[in-house]
Order: sequence, then C-alpha cells, then structure tokens
Amino acid sequence: FNEIPVGYPVPGKTTVYDDSQTIDLDTVQLNGGILVKALSFSIDPYMRGLMRPASAKSYSPPYTIGEPLGNHGVGVVLRSENSSFKPGDHVWAYFPFQEYIVQTDVTNVRVLENKENLPWSTYVGAAGMPGQTSYLGWKACSKAKKGETVFVTTGAGPVGSIVAQLAKLDGLKVIASAGSDEKVEFMKKIGVDVAFNYKTTDTVKVLEEHGPIDIYWDNVGGSTLEAALDAANTFARFIECGMISQYNQASPYGVKNLMNIIAKRLSIHGFLIFDHMTPENAKEFYDTVPAMIAKGDIVFLEDKKYGLEKVGEAILDVQSGKNHGKSVIVVAEE
Ligand code: NDP
Repeated sequence: FNEIPVGYPVPGKTTVYDDSQTIDLDTVQLNGGILVKALSFSIDPYMRGLMRPASAKSYSPPYTIGEPLGNHGVGVVLRSENSSFKPGDHVWAYFPFQEYIVQTDVTNVRVLENKENLPWSTYVGAAGMPGQTSYLGWKACSKAKKGETVFVTTGAGPVGSIVAQLAKLDGLKVIASAGSDEKVEFMKKIGVDVAFNYKTTDTVKVLEEHGPIDIYWDNVGGSTLEAALDAANTFARFIECGMISQYNQASPYGVKNLMNIIAKRLSIHGFLIFDHMTPENAKEFYDTVPAMIAKGDIVFLEDKKYGLEKVGEAILDVQSGKNHGKSVIVVAEE
C-alpha cells in the first residue's frame, strides 16, 4: 500500500508491486506457525475502505502505507510447527498479499477439506467470504417467503448473483440490476425474473412496474436505495450489505425519503459478515455451499488475473465495474 487515494485507487500509485524482498523457504523462522505458499487472493470492494487515514475510524483497521495489502486467500502449507497443520494442507485465511507467508497467529486459519474437489479459487469466491455473505446474510435477515419479491443490486457479482440464486430456490420473484448488457445476460441465465442494466434503464421505473418489493438486498446505496425505499412494501426487509456507489465519492449521497422507514414499518439490517461466522454457521456454510456449487445449484463467474503485479488493476476494476464475476488474483495454480 503506497498512498491513500482520492477518489478511485490508481494502480502503480495507490498500490505498487514490490519484488525487492525475499524469504528463504528452508530457513525462515516460523515461531510455532506455518509457512504458506499463496495460490489465490480475493479482491473485494471493501478493500477501498481500508485505504484510508489511520485516524478515520471504521469497522476494521486500515492498511498501513509501506506494508502489504491483505485480504482472504487460499494457500498450501509448505512447513508447519503447529500440530493442527501439515505440509500439503490447503488453508483459507486473511493473509498479506505475498507469494509466501509466515503465519504465526493461526487462530483464524481454516484447513479446507474440499470433499467436492472444487478448484481452489472457489474458496475465495462462492465458497469464500462473498458466498458466506450471501448465504448467511440471506438466512439471518431476509425472512423470505415463497411468492415474495426481492430486488438485488450488483446482481451479476459474487454476492448479488448468489443472493439471486438463493432467492429463486426459495420461490421468490427476483428483480436484479447490473451495469452492463453482458451482466444482464448472465443474470437471466441464473434465473433472475427481471434483469436490467441500471445504466441504460431507469431503476425507479423498473421497480414501479415490477414491485412492490418485500426484500431489498442493497450492495450499492445512494439513489438506488432511495428508489428501493419508494418501491418497498409494508414490512419489507432491507439488507444493508454494501454501498459501493459511495466508496469513491468525496461527499455522500443524501437519501431523501427516509420517512418510508416509519410509514412502511421497514426493517433495516446493517450486515457485516464477520458477526455471522460463528463456528456453527461456518460449519453449516462449509457443509452446504460447496456441495450446492458441485451440484450446480449455485453457479458463478470468476474474473481471474495472474500475478501479484495485477492487484492494483483488479482493485480498480472491482470499484469501477469492469470485473465480470468474482475477482481473483491467481498467484500459483498448485
Ligand atoms: P462485485 O464483484 O460485484 O464488484 C462490485 C460491483 O459493484 C462492480 O462490479 C460494479 O458492477 C458495481 N458497482 C460499482 N460502482 C457502482 C455504482 N456506482 N453503482 C452501482 N454499482 C456499482 O462485488 P461483491 O459481490 O464482492 O460485493 C458486492 C457488494 O457487497 C459490495 O458493496 C461489497 O462492499 C458488499 N459486501 C459486503 C459484505 C458485508 O459483510 N457487509 C461482505 C462482502 C461484500 P456493475 O457493473 O453492476 O456496476
């Protein structure tokens, strides 16, 4: 991490690739931990929120200038000084973006069983944090009933597309938006009933025609949240998962119609995945979602880039909508 961005992060300026440091794999001290070879890293929208001054408080600590970025990744254990891990284990954790990682604190490192033999990159996407967000968020907050209508934003991305598929499995009518015609085609393929491009079609009009909505899965905030408030049914549930339209803006959009919350008795759920990853929920997630993926009940797209040199570009793509599917940095295949 090189510099706090103003507006969108700039590859090579906000973040830089640094190959000046090396680790001697045979002699590096593990201090009771593990040595991991990185395979895949996840690039997620929330990483933009970590590129802020240390003084700006939020729900997780910011990146430190001069230190590696970090996020969830999958790697393979090369050496271990901890009896819970052995060489060859594939592990998932929040890692620094390095080709090789010495992880001394292994509290949150998970050994992946992968009974379904999914490609390892799946575990940073549909079977990783974005999948956990969709599956556990939908379960905890939607109170979905067959025949209801849900509106899902960023409907072609990892979180939105999985929410849309879970909603279809529960028998709901799904309205979903995304920012290109190609993404609209993908949403139709996964069963979205009303799929539209919010850049060329007026969201207010779509919701007037196909609403009212009983559930709003918000990934974008701003004027779309305003449109959803106007289109909400009485007692609708709003799952406030993300507000990407605001992440690169200097001043926030002022939502004007909050009185709807009272008049329609809306439930507004602020949602952060880490509150929901209890040991019981994690077990349920890993017992259920990889099997659903293997069976074809959940399908997803990946947008892979190869090498840590591509991290800056991938971050910008996710913020600007150029990614098509789950953004993954592949560091090594095996
Ligand atoms: P995606 O891979 O779908 O990438 C984000 C997408 O947001 C882009 O591809 C783009 O798609 C869309 N976007 C960008 N700018 C705008 C804009 N101004 N208005 C509308 N859409 C925009 O991301 P994820 O599926 O990983 O994440 C989706 C959301 O979920 C994000 O808001 C993220 O912060 C949130 N999230 C929240 C979590 C939680 O615990 N609360 C955990 C994980 C994710 P398009 O082409 O459609 O515009």
